[in-house]
Amino acid sequence: MSGATLSGRAALVTGSVQGIGLAIARSLAAEGARVAVHGLAAPGQAAAVEAQLRSDGAPDTVFLDADLRDVDAIEAMMARAAVWGPVDVLVNNAGIQRTAPLSEATAATWNDILAVNLSAAFHTMRLAMPGMGERGFGRVINIASVHGLVASRDKSPYVASKFGLVGLSKVAALEYAACGSRETGGVTVNCICPGWTETAIIGPQVDARAAAHGGDRDAGIASLLSEKQPSRRTSDPAEIGALAVWLCQRPAHNVTGTAIPVDGGWTAQ
Ligand code: NAD
Repeated sequence: MSGATLSGRAALVTGSVQGIGLAIARSLAAEGARVAVHGLAAPGQAAAVEAQLRSDGAPDTVFLDADLRDVDAIEAMMARAAVWGPVDVLVNNAGIQRTAPLSEATAATWNDILAVNLSAAFHTMRLAMPGMGERGFGRVINIASVHGLVASRDKSPYVASKFGLVGLSKVAALEYAACGSRETGGVTVNCICPGWTETAIIGPQVDARAAAHGGDRDAGIASLLSEKQPSRRTSDPAEIGALAVWLCQRPAHNVTGTAIPVDGGWTAQ
């Protein structure tokens, strides 16, 4: 446990059974937050994640297993997420990606990606944010992407969803900007926009590029980075977790409506 700056706070992190969401959940747990874990978990995975978060410092955890393509399931999840009282920290992290040229992307691909990456955040925010406004404290952190700021080919549904998420977040930031005070911490809404980060979601793209380099995974990753990410380094999910914790803390009360790239200079070009 590294601190207790979020002691007494209740957090919900969608898609937190693995990857960036798990890293964010662990960072919040290490600051003393209670954490509602969510995701499409393999058998045993949720219990293992909950045990990890408790050992990281979360005083309590709960697992919620809603399919975010289902609005009724989201509403039930939000009701259960209030087990410790209203949600103080909402992290919309769950996301999916499939790559294909626009002409080959199917209606099902579009519907699934928009539902998980964008519509689910709208529903969780409309349900959680009124309570944040009343209490004068709340943090919404939406995990967008560099693809919420710039485009790449073969990612039309994904890029549309992430640009939409950045726009949705700005509107919510404006609507709640005047809630609370410096003392209560205010209600803020921000996006984190990662570039290449080492998780399962980039697996298919890494595999395809590795295959073009004789099966050499490191060479595949280096090739992907060389195209867009000037630092030539991937991010570790824990680094996104550290930024999320900072956004939750009181000194960040006036940081709202932003879309913060963690992309090694990708969007500076
Ligand atoms: P990941 O594939 O490891 O995790 C995705 C999570 O979303 C999982 O926990 C999964 O259970 C959940 N999820 C997927 N479909 C769901 C559904 N229908 N209902 C409920 N939950 C569902 O990927 P990740 O890299 O950790 O991605 C987390 C977020 O970060 C995503 O929004 C992604 O777009 C974004 N992102 C990732 C990168 C990267 O390079 N890894 C870069 C930019 C943005």
